[in-house]
Amino acid sequence: MDCIFCKILAGEIPCSKVYEDTLFIAFLDINPVHKGHILVVPKRHFVNMLDTPDLEAEAIYKVTRDLSKALIEATGCDGVNLVQNNNAAAGQEVFHSHLHIIPRYENDGLKF
Ligand code: 5GP
Ligand code: ZN
Repeated sequence: MDCIFCKILAGEIPCSKVYEDTLFIAFLDINPVHKGHILVVPKRHFVNMLDTPDLEAEAIYKVTRDLSKALIEATGCDGVNLVQNNNAAAGQEVFHSHLHIIPRYENDGLKF
């Protein structure tokens, strides 16, 4: 399957991994909005949140919460945006389900 995140999961393409468990891997986005921008990615291939089954859909928020707290601790950022782009019309570019954790800083001028 021609999926960049499946290739990362298979070890065929390198990534900066920050977390892994039985269901998910999390790694740094190659083109971060801010340093520390994380992608939380189910190990099984789903296109996006719309076809992600209950197991991963429910578990991803607990993992994301814990990673968000660790990210704030590690970077000193002032907040995080949790972003999911579902389908091309919504800006999705990689069609393997994932959730962005984007560090935010007071007055950084960004909008999501
Ligand atoms: P989307 O718009 O699909 O929600 O975002 C996909 C994200 O994946 C983008 O922020 C992009 O920078 C990131 N990305 C695309 N290819 C790679 C890659 O090969 N490695 C990593 N670490 N991130 C990638
Ligand atoms: Zn995939």
